[in-house]
Amino acid sequence: MNQQSPATLAANRDKAEKYLKRFRNRALGHFIAGEHQPGHAGTTFVNTSPIDNQPIGEVSAGDAVDVAAAAEAAKAAFAVWRKCPGAERRALLHRVADLIEARSEEIALIESLDTGQPIRFMAQAATRGAENFRFFANRATGAQDGLSLPAEHHLNYTLRQPIGPIGVITPWNTPFMLSTWKIAPALAAGCTVVHKPAEWSPLSAMLLAEIAHEAGLPDGVLNLVNGIGEEAGKALTEHPDIKAIAFVGESATGSRILVQGAPTLKRVHFELGGKNPVLVFADADLDRALDAVVFMIYSLNGERCTSSSRLVVQNAIAETFSQRLAERLARIRVGHPLAPETEIGPLIHPRHRDKVLSYVRLAAEEGARVITGAPLDPAHAAGNYVQPVAFLNARNDMAIAQQEIFGPCLTVIGFEDEAEALEIANDTAYGLTAYIWTQDVGRAHRLARVLDAGMVWVNSENNRHLPTPFGGMKASGIGRDGGDYSLDFYTETKNVCVALDTHRVPKLGL
Ligand code: NAD
Repeated sequence: MNQQSPATLAANRDKAEKYLKRFRNRALGHFIAGEHQPGHAGTTFVNTSPIDNQPIGEVSAGDAVDVAAAAEAAKAAFAVWRKCPGAERRALLHRVADLIEARSEEIALIESLDTGQPIRFMAQAATRGAENFRFFANRATGAQDGLSLPAEHHLNYTLRQPIGPIGVITPWNTPFMLSTWKIAPALAAGCTVVHKPAEWSPLSAMLLAEIAHEAGLPDGVLNLVNGIGEEAGKALTEHPDIKAIAFVGESATGSRILVQGAPTLKRVHFELGGKNPVLVFADADLDRALDAVVFMIYSLNGERCTSSSRLVVQNAIAETFSQRLAERLARIRVGHPLAPETEIGPLIHPRHRDKVLSYVRLAAEEGARVITGAPLDPAHAAGNYVQPVAFLNARNDMAIAQQEIFGPCLTVIGFEDEAEALEIANDTAYGLTAYIWTQDVGRAHRLARVLDAGMVWVNSENNRHLPTPFGGMKASGIGRDGGDYSLDFYTETKNVCVALDTHRVPKLGL
């Protein structure tokens, strides 16, 4: 592990500890109807730090009663919020963004300590949360707009009305930023929200609930229930007053939520797992391609749905490209997440670390050549640190090429020509993103057309433009986020058909 900068790490630790104090002193409860509320049953679970697996504090384990209270608050607030003029919703959501910016240091430090994500990325995540709120704030005035669709004898126009209280269920990898992708458009559309954050990283969700309250959102517009997925999350997906579920998490959990939500016919929006290919052709700008490949698998601890976890590289350059990859791998800085130079922090939980390490063992058993980053610093033995790895000479039918590992593990597969590259890229249960690196414009467009992925980047890492659709095909999801796609999900589209009094009305019983 590389040297850390003790002064800045120490300063960040001191600041973080100051912000954390409130979570250490009392059990973190829920936020319902504009108030902090303890869980009704008093049951709690322990939230631990990925840095040393020591407790950060207790968290209320919400149950169906807590969820029902939050759903009731969201239902009552919906009657008010849906009537709030768009310009007012816009102003309030901008105020939320202002307050996120004002507390961005606190959000970043808390998020980094709670998730193990390096502070260099979490500082941006807080800012991006504010950007999401601003973007959708500006959409609030037009969120319920529709289309004019005239016919010969009738005038048709559509309206969009907010669907009702939404259940938002989020994972632990970048919880604050991800939750704002859902919550901001839902509120802009005129919906109210009950948010159930991941049990392994619950802290920043409370900051957002408090910020929304302070910004002046009416009580009950944004509610928060902490708890375990199988209990609080399940109750939320089953509640009849919750009209839709916006879920980010594993594909298997998405399947369960479909079943749980079936009796109440829930509308669902799922952003699920991925096993995303990055296709690198021999004619690519290999310096930029290498930067992007390394960034897209080793940033955010590899705990990233859009990570380029399969490097599909043309055989003619596979050896030299892998050699350069190995050199970069050896220099990646694994360390304390609050150290500014750290590139990979500890993974979220010992269970997740064990899962990731099991794939490193499996890679060797399956016959791939495992190369690793620098040895880990023994001083970090108590945390969930892992070395970044790459699995060279892999085949696409290996488990390490088919299953989502969700850690800093890159599976490297060779290909001969464009047809084989495409076959490998699409031969997976997932379909979230694909990345193409080539200087051949025709080939880039040919491949973009036939790759089974919801998002394709050409000669780029994952680069987000908020109006564009974000989401996956196959086991990677249902529906799209972003711009109007989000607003469509949070609204019911209604058609109004008005006769011009020129058509013949059918006559019966004359
Ligand atoms: P997870 O599915 O285990 O948990 C996600 C959330 O669902 C948590 O809040 C959890 O408490 C809740 N949950 C669990 N069981 C539930 C149930 N039966 N009913 C209702 N809620 C339930 O996922 P995770 O391990 O927290 O996150 C990692 C996964 O998230 C990866 O698969 C990753 O690819 C995916 N992810 C996808 C995207 C995307 O945009 N496609 C983004 C980030 C993460």
